[in-house]
Amino acid sequence: MKDTSNLGFGTKAIHAGQEPDPTTGAIMTPIYQTSTYTQESPGIHKGYAYARGKNPTRNALEKCLAELEGAKYGLCFSSGMGAIDAVTKLLRPGDEVITGDDLYGGTYRMYTKVFGHFGIKFHFIDMKDANNLHKYINKNTKMIWLETPTNPTMQIIDIAACAKIAKENNIICAVDNTFASPFLQNPLALGADIVMHSVTKYLGGHSDVVMGALCLNDDNLYQQLAFIHNSCGATPGPQDCFLVLRGIKTLHIRMERHCYNGRKIAEFLKTHPKIDKVYWPGFPDSQNHDIAKKQMKDFGGMISFSLKGNKQEEAFEIARRTRVFSLAESLGGVESLINHPATMTHASIPKEERYKAGVVESLLRLSVGIEDIDDLIHDLQQALA
Ligand SMILES: *Cc1c(COP(=O)(O)O)cnc(C)c1O
Repeated sequence: MKDTSNLGFGTKAIHAGQEPDPTTGAIMTPIYQTSTYTQESPGIHKGYAYARGKNPTRNALEKCLAELEGAKYGLCFSSGMGAIDAVTKLLRPGDEVITGDDLYGGTYRMYTKVFGHFGIKFHFIDMKDANNLHKYINKNTKMIWLETPTNPTMQIIDIAACAKIAKENNIICAVDNTFASPFLQNPLALGADIVMHSVTKYLGGHSDVVMGALCLNDDNLYQQLAFIHNSCGATPGPQDCFLVLRGIKTLHIRMERHCYNGRKIAEFLKTHPKIDKVYWPGFPDSQNHDIAKKQMKDFGGMISFSLKGNKQEEAFEIARRTRVFSLAESLGGVESLINHPATMTHASIPKEERYKAGVVESLLRLSVGIEDIDDLIHDLQQALA
């Protein structure tokens, strides 16, 4: 099945980039556990010289990811942060980036504590209305970096509107698509230039791999990023690529269940007397719900909620009491997780910034897994009792 580009998402998830092994017919892509490849004569080889540059297991995964995002190119990194690092290295001192005020904590930390020192300027702005971007664009603006839904308050940013403004101003528009996964949302089709994933999350799906990826169509940008990829070296090993290829085969089925369970839990939380706000983009009265409906296929399994009275100790208590939901960072695995953003995933963000984004002391974030919905609801019921 060489060409899967016209097939459905589930068929691509299972087959894209993957051919039976030519020597044995093995249906699964072998784990090419090698660092180097023999050459017939100096420089004469089968296209593989050294495994930082190319590995067949990784190539299969890169092709698969590219197809799922409707992209020409895919690049896999040893972590999501490795992928964001590579994109940021497209920039030069003096360049400016416009990004959201509700960013993944690690991205905020890398921008402020690493790239800030290299003379790159970052504007952390409210992107809920894309028109806000205009105020921050000047001749030095080189990139718009956005996440949607955002972490942890599930703000929806209008990808098509941001990409249009980027195009008009000759700026790169890059989207961190981790929370939606390629099953729910394809930013390139909405006009973005680069899609980034923390593959660690929904794509891997089983909480057993850390990996990142970029998908894109532009030849020139790809050449630059592939150069950085090989030069800076944040490339993943073949075992991890194999695990992700395996994980992706059920992405479409897992996502359907994440969305189904997510909806049930959001509706349960919404009516609970102890709960103040519930952040889930599927409520008709949620922020930018019409945009969510337009750009996403469904609303996913990520939900946050805060408590009436906003007491941190009460939130801690709930996080300690759940039995099916495990208290842990990360998201997107088959198992349900609960997280306290203010002290866990978002601890590196200053309090004023956190509060602006709604990350208050009683906020809890759920990554709703694919367990039986009744068990998940009972678990939350007893933890909130
Ligand atoms: C986890 C995450 C990242 C970072 O990815 P790693 O694989 O942990 O390096 C970036 N963005 C978002 C939205 C994430 O959830």
